[in-house]
Amino acid sequence: MEKTKGINTICTHIGELEDLQFKGAVSPLYMSTSYAYEGVDVKRYPRYFNTPNQEALCRKIAALEHCEAALIFGSGMAAVSTSLLAFLQKGDHVVLPQQIYGGTYNFVVEEFHKYGIEYTFITDTRAGSFEEAIRPNTRVMYLETPSNPLLTLTDLEAVGRLAHSRGITTMIDNTFASPVNQNPADFGIDIIIHSATKYMGGHSDICAGAVAASREHIDRIFHLAKNLGGSLSDFTVWLLERSLKTMGLRVMAQNANAQELARFLRSHPDIHQVYYPGLEDHPGHDLASRQMRGFGGMLSFELAPELDLGRFMESLRWIKASMSLAGVESTLLAPAQTSHALLTPLQREQAGIRDGLIRFSVGIEDLEDLRADLNQALRQAKSGVAPTPQQV
Ligand SMILES: *Cc1c(COP(=O)(O)O)cnc(C)c1O
Repeated sequence: MEKTKGINTICTHIGELEDLQFKGAVSPLYMSTSYAYEGVDVKRYPRYFNTPNQEALCRKIAALEHCEAALIFGSGMAAVSTSLLAFLQKGDHVVLPQQIYGGTYNFVVEEFHKYGIEYTFITDTRAGSFEEAIRPNTRVMYLETPSNPLLTLTDLEAVGRLAHSRGITTMIDNTFASPVNQNPADFGIDIIIHSATKYMGGHSDICAGAVAASREHIDRIFHLAKNLGGSLSDFTVWLLERSLKTMGLRVMAQNANAQELARFLRSHPDIHQVYYPGLEDHPGHDLASRQMRGFGGMLSFELAPELDLGRFMESLRWIKASMSLAGVESTLLAPAQTSHALLTPLQREQAGIRDGLIRFSVGIEDLEDLRADLNQALRQAKSGVAPTPQQV
């Protein structure tokens, strides 16, 4: 366990492979899929998750999450699905919040009945709601905090304590916060999952997943992982190691931009509502201050109903409408048209997703440029004048 180093030192140094042959500055990339089996300690093979580059990256990710061990996968969903199935079997029950990543929701709803796994989706994220949903056969509690898209908070310590007192394993999708802002293991959460496609990769060019936990828990996940086969190619492993070196810097810049833009949007007369845990009046602000080091680069806001959402989106110059998130470039999407489009208007209303809601993944661009871009797009959305992005 590597708890003693600062985040940027872990990002730059921990786990790196030494280039013994040429003394190069960065980890050499080993692309071999075939390794000798005689006279070696470890039988290496990419799908056994134990090539030199895979093992090196796992050491860095374990250190980043204050855990003993880690495993990397070909996607975030491979990490989510393998972790859940490793701890659940026929007749078991899992508690999850309704407001989770859409892919995870689909995995549970479309696949679990085939395995005879029972589940309960709770509609709010208080620790008490997790407790009420526990059944005698509950084996896993699954968390996502801050949540998508409304950034509600769950008390990690309270859920961790509750689960341990009942012998239940806890898992969290820590993608939104990133290890820079939140280390759930410090609050007693057992298994920490990431879509490394997001903040860990950070440049919108890598698809990967990661899990960090105790050695014992990782061994259990590995046992299933090698059967399911969702390992990550060594070239992508190497790129991800490269991306992680600047994760601390990137995420801190994103935190700072998001905090300022949340303030700016809240004071803007054409913005109805802003959801960001860094704002003092956000209902999860105190909790976020206790369990997060930074409030993150994700925020949501709601346009006033008279504004034209479509015109707002197309008038933006730097901030792009995009399905994904967490890149160095700012992106946004309207959940009612994308991630939550399949819900009925009533279901959306109940989930707090109004038509004018926008989820904003704040990038590292200069704050003044982002603020000016939002300002001019809000003007266009209000005036009804056709946009000319060149005017920005
Ligand atoms: C994107 C995402 C995932 C899934 O990750 P993939 O790499 O796309 O498979 C899971 N959880 C959250 C919160 C995400 O944003």
